[in-house]
Amino acid sequence: MGSAQGALLFPLDTTFEGFYNWVSAWGVAGHRYEGMGGPEATTYRTPGGTKTKETPMPWTNEFNLPLALCRAIEVITGDYDRSSDKMTFSVTEVIRSPRITLLTRRHREEMIEDYADYLFLIRGSAVHWVATRGGEGLGDAITEERLYKDYGDFRLSGKSDLYHEKKITDWKDTSAKAAMRQDKDEWIAQPNLYAELYREAGFEVDEVEIYAILHTWNQYEVLKDPNYPKVPFLKRKVELWDPEFVDAYVRGRFAMIAEFMYKHDWQLPQCTSQDRWARKSDWALIKEGKQNAQKKEDTELELEEYIKGKGTRFLNKDGTLKAGFTVVKRPGRDVRCADKPGRNVGYCPVREWCNYYHNEVKDKQ
Ligand code: SF4
Repeated sequence: MGSAQGALLFPLDTTFEGFYNWVSAWGVAGHRYEGMGGPEATTYRTPGGTKTKETPMPWTNEFNLPLALCRAIEVITGDYDRSSDKMTFSVTEVIRSPRITLLTRRHREEMIEDYADYLFLIRGSAVHWVATRGGEGLGDAITEERLYKDYGDFRLSGKSDLYHEKKITDWKDTSAKAAMRQDKDEWIAQPNLYAELYREAGFEVDEVEIYAILHTWNQYEVLKDPNYPKVPFLKRKVELWDPEFVDAYVRGRFAMIAEFMYKHDWQLPQCTSQDRWARKSDWALIKEGKQNAQKKEDTELELEEYIKGKGTRFLNKDGTLKAGFTVVKRPGRDVRCADKPGRNVGYCPVREWCNYYHNEVKDKQ
């Protein structure tokens, strides 16, 4: 590397904001180093430090997974719902956090990814593959058809799992607990955006629905909880949004993307607590050897009252906790941003470029 080019290099010991000042000085804030007179594609620097990506092999294999499995993961991730067109955004990109969407687009080729972090996709892909085969057997059904709708300069793109008898069906591979919760916004927005794409293509849509295949379903929970699904499957009817509402929703999301498209990484709109999979702090009663809390409450007082209410189940006669039980305060946590348990990687693939992660999470875990 020549000296003039070397002079452009970002100093390794600078601060996070210093990084952006350096980038801004070259007028290409928030984008990759290539084309900026920076280092070759194999080496790049992030607010979190220097990273090296070996080309043409963009993956790491920390857990020495077998080659066939690694190949399967490459095939699945190659099928991702993404577009190389700058103005075309998939339904998934439109409904998720704009910060994650834009950071992913800017830094996709810099990300170092480990096969192990994509193992879960195999199960999800299998579910979608089977769903497609099942849909094809329905005769006049439409499966995995990519559709588009233009919104000014932007284009929305998506393919739903199944359209049949005026109904959009989206299949999910998920845990029983997640399927039973009513807080998954994307489960409502996603099939409704697919419905809009079908309407745009001239089809009527009367219903939208989720078919959830439950991978953590437990037969014994059926006996304990009357609301627990009786089989590892849950059908969730989703409220059908008015076309006007969908239009306003999508235009609003594109307006936000347009506003931030050329802003610095660290100026992107913050992820919501839901985007960050934030867990608030709580007080938990833990039994030795058990992973899950026996009981958790928002305050210490509430947990104490619960324990007292259970009498000798948890307490000795003198009012102290029985051996093997402890009460702990568990701090709140942004699960998506933080390290995965026991590993130095997170669930969020773009956290290296996210100032929230560097300022609020990285050194406070
Ligand atoms: S690290 Fe957290 S705050 Fe940053 S983009 Fe990812 S989810 Fe959002």
